Amino acid sequence: MQNFNKVLVANRGEIAIRVFRACKELGIRTVAIYSEEDKYALFRAKADESYLIGEKKKPIEVYLSIGEIINLALKKGVDAIHPGYGFLSENPEFAEKCEEAGIVYIGPSVHTLENLGDKIKSKLLAQSVGVPVIPGVDKPMTSVDEAVVFAEKYGYPVILKAAAGGGGRGMRVVYSEKDLEREFNNARTEAKKAFGIEDIFIEKYLERPKHIEVQILADKYGNIVHLYERDCSVQRRHQKILEFTPAFSIPQEVRDRLYQDALKLSRAVNYVNAGTAEFLVDKHGNHYFIEMNPRIQVEHTITEMTTGIDIVQSQILVAQGYPLNSKEIGISSQESVVPRGYSIQCRITTEDPLSNFMPDTGKIDVYRTSSGFGIRLDGGNGYTGANISPYYDSLLVKIISWARTFEGTTQKAIRSVKEMNVKGVKTNEAFLINVMNHEKFLSGECDTHFIDDTPELFD
Ligand code: ADP
Repeated sequence: MQNFNKVLVANRGEIAIRVFRACKELGIRTVAIYSEEDKYALFRAKADESYLIGEKKKPIEVYLSIGEIINLALKKGVDAIHPGYGFLSENPEFAEKCEEAGIVYIGPSVHTLENLGDKIKSKLLAQSVGVPVIPGVDKPMTSVDEAVVFAEKYGYPVILKAAAGGGGRGMRVVYSEKDLEREFNNARTEAKKAFGIEDIFIEKYLERPKHIEVQILADKYGNIVHLYERDCSVQRRHQKILEFTPAFSIPQEVRDRLYQDALKLSRAVNYVNAGTAEFLVDKHGNHYFIEMNPRIQVEHTITEMTTGIDIVQSQILVAQGYPLNSKEIGISSQESVVPRGYSIQCRITTEDPLSNFMPDTGKIDVYRTSSGFGIRLDGGNGYTGANISPYYDSLLVKIISWARTFEGTTQKAIRSVKEMNVKGVKTNEAFLINVMNHEKFLSGECDTHFIDDTPELFD
């Protein structure tokens, strides 16, 4: 067991605050890094120490500065680094450099990150252990001809994806051959620009699937459990807007298969720490693995609400060497994880749904939060007087509700979103309320096309 004295979070905003809170509750000192643009950001004040880095760098690059982050960590006597999500959270080089510097990386091993970071590799791995995947090519494509041959064999639509992609970026759906060459070139250029690697692949595009993912938690001693599933089908442009658990519209027998396949995959890579296996499920209940995210996810909160397990604390404890059945983590067996009730997470963003979700920026004049039984707020940059900059993602606060029934948790979430009062910047609040009031949402049956198919959500 290596008890940490000090943890640095190589991230910003709400997830940095989430990790600082977990550390404090565990008696661990916290270190923030921040960019010039984040000088007045709230997360900075929530850490015990905070340091400006990357003074001459672009705002995004600051949080990607591997060398600078590690040097600072060494100088300040940091024992471990938590990468959060986005930025360096799936970068094997970062994990490796931490290891070389004698700093614990709070996440899976370098080897696991290498295997799972690439979507083609992780699909091949899934296939090798008998987990179903969507038909696709098994190596990066070097010419559009390969894409044409594939699409002729499997039929349109097809989807082009960046092998290193994430966050819903670098994907292009193609409906006919005449668009394939143009989109092929666009996808490669976009992949190179966004992820530094131009490798792209192609797979069959499933019509109207649901996105269901399974949370995994594993210790260093081969013990692994799943923490059940999340339904993340409410998406816009392949990005999640709102998530809930359990995925009650999916038959239990299908959900059981997802748990088993998530565990199978995790075991195949000797997975350690928290991770998520993502699947698409079609109308017939067939499931397909799409990728494994070897990090904490934005929507981990809803699983915490229904299982009572603090996933971020568990990540830190696992990295310190605690087994799952230790009294600190408290998971004696799979059977001991019993989810209760229903939870929804709404992502309140500073985006204007009526202007194609354009991010809005500027000063927040009024920031009044909601509260009450069954409501949890994981906030980032919001306070009266805060400046919302155009440089980073537009997530303002996550509202998470919990209740015994889905109806109950939906009503709580709606009440809570309505109770929030943000003035000075536009938000997506009214849009989220329309989503939650929609009968299709209440039936739990939304698929990934729900938003595109439902223009009245914008009324
Ligand atoms: P990212 O890593 O960028 O989040 P994913 O591979 O997880 O990308 O896919 C994000 C979303 O894109 C999925 O939840 C789904 O809505 C859509 N998607 C991805 N692949 C397919 C596919 N083959 N068919 C249909 N939809 C897909």
